[in-house]
Amino acid sequence: MNPEIRSKYQAVIGLEVHAQMLTKTKAYSNDVNEFGATPNSNVSAITLGHPGTLPRMNKQTIQYAIRLGLACESTIAPEQHFARKNYFYPDLPKGYQITQDTTPICTEGRVIVKDENGEEKRIGITRIHMEEDAGKSMHDVDLYDTLVDLNRAGVPLLEIVSEPDLRSSQEAYNYVSEVRKLVRYLDICDGNMEEGSLRCDANISVMLKDAKEFGTKVEVKNMNSIRNVQKAIEFEIERQIEAVEAGEHIAQETRSFDALKGITISMRSKEAANDYRYFPEPDLLPITVSQEQIEAVRGNMPPLPRELFLKYTNEFGLSEYDALNLTDNKDIALFYEDIIEHTKNYKGAANWVMGDIKSFLNNRGLEISEFPIPAKNIAALIQIIDDSKISSTVASQKVFPAMLETPEKDPLKIAEELNVLQDSNEDAILTFIDDVIKQHPDEAARYKGGEKQLVGFFMGQLMRASKGQADPKVANGLMRKRLEEQ
Ligand code: ADP
Ligand code: MG
Repeated sequence: MNPEIRSKYQAVIGLEVHAQMLTKTKAYSNDVNEFGATPNSNVSAITLGHPGTLPRMNKQTIQYAIRLGLACESTIAPEQHFARKNYFYPDLPKGYQITQDTTPICTEGRVIVKDENGEEKRIGITRIHMEEDAGKSMHDVDLYDTLVDLNRAGVPLLEIVSEPDLRSSQEAYNYVSEVRKLVRYLDICDGNMEEGSLRCDANISVMLKDAKEFGTKVEVKNMNSIRNVQKAIEFEIERQIEAVEAGEHIAQETRSFDALKGITISMRSKEAANDYRYFPEPDLLPITVSQEQIEAVRGNMPPLPRELFLKYTNEFGLSEYDALNLTDNKDIALFYEDIIEHTKNYKGAANWVMGDIKSFLNNRGLEISEFPIPAKNIAALIQIIDDSKISSTVASQKVFPAMLETPEKDPLKIAEELNVLQDSNEDAILTFIDDVIKQHPDEAARYKGGEKQLVGFFMGQLMRASKGQADPKVANGLMRKRLEEQ
C-alpha cells in the first residue's frame, strides 16, 4: 500500500482473548477437562444438557479468575451472577452457554505492553468474565459429514476484553504475547494457540489521524497463532483504508482469517448477528467473593513476569534484553531465581542460563524441568570461575559437559579430577613465561623496541604452553613485567 495514504490513517484495535482454564474438571460438571482425549469420552448428562440435569459451579475457576484479575490490577466483583447466552449450534447441546453478562468477575484492569517504539504502554482491560466453551465441530475429518466432539463443551474459559487502546498490529502482537505469558506464569492456561486453548478475536477500525471519533469496527476471528493475529490485523487495516479511500462505507461485520491466503473473508454482517436473549441463569446461585478470599489468592500469587523483569533491570543491573530473555519462560525464570539464591554474580548466572544451559536444552529438545544440574551447582561453577580457579572457556568446554554426566558432584571436585584447575601460582607461571621468551628472542627484542602489541603473541604462546591453565589476568601482568626486564 502507498505509504503516504497509509500514513493518513490511524488504526484502532481492541482484542477479545479466550483462555481455556487448566482445571481438572469442567466449569459446571465433574467431567474431566483434558485436551486430546478420545472424542466424546468426557461427556456426562450435564455436558450433554439432558433435561433435569443441573450445573454445579467448579470453584477453582473463581480462584483462577481472581488470580488473573489481580495480575491485571482489576477490581474484583464481590458477587458473581451467571447468565444464559442462547443460540443454536450443533456443538452446543444445551442450546445456551452459561456466561457472565452484567457482572463480569473483573473490571477496569490493565496490561503493560511495549508499543511500536519499545516504550511501555498501558492497555486497559475492560472486563474479564467466566464462561464455558462449546464443543468442537470438525468439518475436515470426514469426507461427507461434519463430526462433533463434545469433550470441549463445558470447559471453563476466561474471556479477557481489552479497551480499544491498541494502535498497530505490532502492539496487538505484543499484547497477546504478554497475556499469554501472564496466564502461563499464573498456571491458569497453557496458552497453546495451535490447540485452541488460547484464542483471540480482533476488533479493528481505521480513522483519519485527526479524527475525533473511531471508525466502524470489524471483528476478525480464527487466527491460530500470535503471528497470524498480527497478519490478520495488518491485512484488515489496509483493506479498510482502501475501502475508505474508494469512498466505501465500512460495514460492521464479522470476518474470518484465511491463513493460507493471508486475507480476511466476510462471515456475517451485524444485521445478521444473533440476538442472544441473555437472561439470568436460574440453575446457579450467585456466588460471593469475600475480601479474605481475594487476599488468600493474593498471598499465593506466583512471581509475575513484569515484577521479575523490573527486579532484573533495576536491582540486578541486567540489560532489558537479558531480562526479557530470562523472563520469557516462567520455568527458566524460576531456575534463574534458584541460581541467584546461591550467587550474587547476576550477570554471570544470566549468561549461563541464556548461553550454555539454553543451548543444551535446545540441542536435546528438553525443557528446563528436565535439566539435570541443580541450580546450586551452577552457582558453584560460577564461583570457581570468579575465584580464577578455572577460566570460563574451560568451564564451558570441559567442566560443564562433565557436570551434565555427574550433576550432583561439586564442580570444583570435577575440575580437580579433570586436572583443569588454573594455575595462579606465580612461580609456575613465571617458568612458562621465561621459557616462552627464550624461545622467541626476536619478538622479545621487537617488544623492547616498542611493539607493545606483541604481548598478545606472547600470551598466546603462554596459554598454549600452559595448556590454558595459567590465570590470564595474573599471567598478563607478569608477562609485561618480564618482557620489560629483558
Ligand atoms: P460489542 O458490543 O460489539 O461487543 P464492545 O464495545 O463490547 O462491542 O467491544 C468489543 C471489543 O471491540 C472490545 O475489545 C473493544 O475494545 C473493541 N472495540 C470497540 N470499539 C472499537 C472500535 N471502534 N475500533 C476497534 N475496536 C473497538
Ligand atoms: Mg461486547
